[in-house]
Amino acid sequence: MSLADVTSNLRAPIVTKVADKPTVRVHSVEWRKIMAGEPVEINPSVGHGYRVMSVDEWSARWKPNEAWPECLQCGSKNSKEHHFTQTWCRGKKKWESECLCLDCHSFSFRSYCDPDFKTPEDVEKERWQALVKGDTSMPVDAI
Ligand SMILES: [Zn+2]
Repeated sequence: MSLADVTSNLRAPIVTKVADKPTVRVHSVEWRKIMAGEPVEINPSVGHGYRVMSVDEWSARWKPNEAWPECLQCGSKNSKEHHFTQTWCRGKKKWESECLCLDCHSFSFRSYCDPDFKTPEDVEKERWQALVKGDTSMPVDAI
């Protein structure tokens, strides 16, 4: 997904949440350890084993989110994204992003979902239900 895809044609409000720990599950265990000064696993591409790391060192490989760098807590743009997922289905989109602020160490979570978004699983289920009912108005190649 390009930056324009994430930021344009939004037809619903972006849901936001700010917290002092990750809202998403990824990195939540590591974050608790970093805050407690406990060792965390070294990135496998640079070494192996465990080490006590600063927040800056731990997040060094993460990239800024160019669309929404602002921290929802303090307004700083000195943030890095640690989580991004997106799903596209039949031209409808859904995504979520979470950034860590390097100034106040808050996590800013943002999520968006088109009002009529359906997952690929939902679409497939509806297709089969239509077939079972003998409804042929939904051509297979439209999926
Ligand atoms: Zn901040």
